[in-house]
Amino acid sequence: MPAPAPSSDRRVTIPPFSGDVIEMLPGQILTIIDDEGGQVVDFFAESAADPDEVLSSGVTIDCNESLRLNVGHTLYSDRYRPMFELVEDTVGEHDLFHPCCRPEMYDHFYDNGAGHPSCLNNLNTALGRERSAITPVNLFMHTVIHPDMTISVEEPLSKAGDHVTLVARMPLRVALAACSVTESKCNSGRSTSITAIVSTPTADES
Ligand SMILES: [Zn+2]
Repeated sequence: MPAPAPSSDRRVTIPPFSGDVIEMLPGQILTIIDDEGGQVVDFFAESAADPDEVLSSGVTIDCNESLRLNVGHTLYSDRYRPMFELVEDTVGEHDLFHPCCRPEMYDHFYDNGAGHPSCLNNLNTALGRERSAITPVNLFMHTVIHPDMTISVEEPLSKAGDHVTLVARMPLRVALAACSVTESKCNSGRSTSITAIVSTPTADES
């Protein structure tokens, strides 16, 4: 079956060290592109009907019975309801464990939290909220689990133009941030832009 021809597109480029919000209706398609490669996207969402219902990486692990996010998997809310379906992925390596970077994290590892841009602040600002912590789906983040169960964060495998595509399963407010960490391999030692495209399948395809 050919890919649905979008009837309307909305394209948002999110600069380095920043975030943005996108509203989606069920059936709409979201493509998230790593513009230059090697960049993590902090991906989070809340129900448009009730912002207390949010994307849960833990429930997503639970329901898919997988520590890895694969094409065909569903991303769930904290109420075990489908929020998105992952329909395309050119990378296949994402992180479902790490909380958003935040000033306290920068202080813990690098002693430079004061005034540092962070995904927690960027996602909260995008959604107009003050959540005390967010564990997003960290798209393209390359976390390796070693045989002794220690973990390390390596450079993302994504190259310029690599992307994931998700279909919304409920009315959503989606927040995206181009991760601000430049101090480690997390974003290949820099922060670069990401692009999000929302498209709507034509009536006979939806
Ligand atoms: Zn971050």
